[in-house]
Amino acid sequence: MFILDSLCWICGEEYNGLAFGAGMVQQEPLIPAWEKGTYKITSVSKGHDEQFKYYTDPSMYEPTDECEFIEWGDLRLCNENNYCPDCEEMSLDFVVVGEAD
Ligand SMILES: [Zn+2]
Repeated sequence: MFILDSLCWICGEEYNGLAFGAGMVQQEPLIPAWEKGTYKITSVSKGHDEQFKYYTDPSMYEPTDECEFIEWGDLRLCNENNYCPDCEEMSLDFVVVGEAD
């Protein structure tokens, strides 16, 4: 799995150490998502759509020509212009900072 940091370039909110993908122990891929109600970003497996909005959903980002996708199998995240639950702008970037089993 990838380890991601995220940063909003408008409000400065950041979340570090988000998992994306699967590993030796975690076999169901984890996907960054924001939790309805708390507005916090965490990584969860598929199937929790009532509680979470996944950043792999195209409604969660506005890709530009410079957008690069971070891909795990058929899952993909846009590296920029993602929805920030704190300021509600399309201003959250994801950066791969490492990989883990
Ligand atoms: Zn923000």
